Amino acid sequence: MSYCVHCGVELDRSEKRCPLCQTEVIDPREPFDEQAVRPYPRRLDPITRQINRRFVGSLITIVLAFPALLCGAIDFSQAGRLTWSAYVVGALVLVWSWTVPYFLLRRRTLSGVFIPGVLALLSYLFLIAWLQQDLSWYLPLALPLILMPSALIFLIVYLVIRRLIRGFAIPAAILIAAGLLIVAIELVLKHHAGGPVSPTWSLYAMIPCLALATVCLAIARRQAILDEIKRRLHL
Ligand SMILES: [Zn+2]
Repeated sequence: MSYCVHCGVELDRSEKRCPLCQTEVIDPREPFDEQAVRPYPRRLDPITRQINRRFVGSLITIVLAFPALLCGAIDFSQAGRLTWSAYVVGALVLVWSWTVPYFLLRRRTLSGVFIPGVLALLSYLFLIAWLQQDLSWYLPLALPLILMPSALIFLIVYLVIRRLIRGFAIPAAILIAAGLLIVAIELVLKHHAGGPVSPTWSLYAMIPCLALATVCLAIARRQAILDEIKRRLHL
């Protein structure tokens, strides 16, 4: 019986590398044996996982479709057309679009899950505006107030996933985005209200955000310098 020199895990003769820490196994008394029966399968079965995810996706679809159809049927039988049930059906479709693609998509990318969710939210709000015969708030208010934070969230998550920002640069990016967003929200609200379009109260929120972001960036830069020194001195 061999044990991993690095992590101490018990090793089988079928192991060329430690299954836990990937350290190479060199034991002259018990050399690697290709023919030895492996104590567990070579890899996890991705098909079972795919079926499980599809099952959860289908289950959510059924759970959401049932009340949608029921509401639609009751409304249609009473009014002869869809009235109040359109709000319910729209909300359920929105919940579906936020949850089910996550389970059904084989390759879950940021743009594949996030962008359809934002478009679904915009579509639902458009449906509400259209049902109320009042589009006056949709274009000047709903559209920018959803697109701006969505674009910033998308950008930050993209930068984090791609490892373009890390460590303290992440809270710095979030603070900068939050500061800019608050000012943009104030400008949108003022533009809609018809007053002078210049930032006032939002500056009191943006300035502390930017100050904190500067501190975070300074720490991130210091961390990068420390890491570089450690790397060069082989510490
Ligand atoms: Zn090990």
